[in-house]
Amino acid sequence: MITRFAPSPTGYLHLGHALAAWVAYDLARKNEGQMLLRFEDIDVARVRSEYYHAIEEDLRWLGIEWSGVPWRQIDRAAAYQQALETLQSLHVLYPCFCTRKEIARMSSAPQQGDGTDGPVYPGICRSLSPQQQQSRIERGDRWAWRLDSEKAARLCGPLHFHDHRFGTQAVDPSLLGDVVIARKDIGVSYHLAVVVDDAAQGVTWVTRGEDLLASTHVHVILQHLLGFRQPQHWHHPLVCDEKGMRLAKRDDARSLQSLRAEGMSAQDVLRQIHTFL
Ligand code: GLU
Repeated sequence: MITRFAPSPTGYLHLGHALAAWVAYDLARKNEGQMLLRFEDIDVARVRSEYYHAIEEDLRWLGIEWSGVPWRQIDRAAAYQQALETLQSLHVLYPCFCTRKEIARMSSAPQQGDGTDGPVYPGICRSLSPQQQQSRIERGDRWAWRLDSEKAARLCGPLHFHDHRFGTQAVDPSLLGDVVIARKDIGVSYHLAVVVDDAAQGVTWVTRGEDLLASTHVHVILQHLLGFRQPQHWHHPLVCDEKGMRLAKRDDARSLQSLRAEGMSAQDVLRQIHTFL
């Protein structure tokens, strides 16, 4: 068994991360497997170098150990490019020239919790002709690559995945729709990077928060298209505050560092996260 904890070094770890790390670690430990640590640091504008070290320090404090040298996604551009080319050769991607603002204006769909934010893409660029695409490119417009999710799902046929908590799930390509596979600014996206790396690292169990359940539908499609083995899944509960709101870095959730400074012990943290499991 190989599990992984895959934080983004864009902030200090909080209780929600502690729970995610513990689930991955404990599962591997109980099954005589290994837990890997992977830094999901493709979003270079938000990454800060001090967080890598701070994350490792917090994990050690919690008594969570990982195997080998942590991977950094920033080093993996060539692998992502290769996967992107494979998907392009299957004709399941299209260039999207829309800006975030345009999408927000034209979309009536609700926000989706796929970890990348934003509404389901209303498909504006899906129907551009090759000539229209060419003229936009010649005009100097920048583009992202999106998955034509319906086409991709047709190519795959019916797919399922098994989740330890939620049971067998039929893959629904409409949940997140035509997600971005390669962003304009960094040439990759969370969805592509996570699928490529989980396969390359031989991850057999993907454990992550239940907020990413919808993303897994996309990942299973990508795994099938790229010829990767499908891992087992466990979408664990999220840590919520007294009002039932999930903790997130952007909400100023209190970091493990500050809890530690206030005198909380690692045992206290572990006891607290277990109340959510
Ligand atoms: N980097 C993601 C996060 O911090 C992890 C997602 C995953 O485990 O697939 O939420």
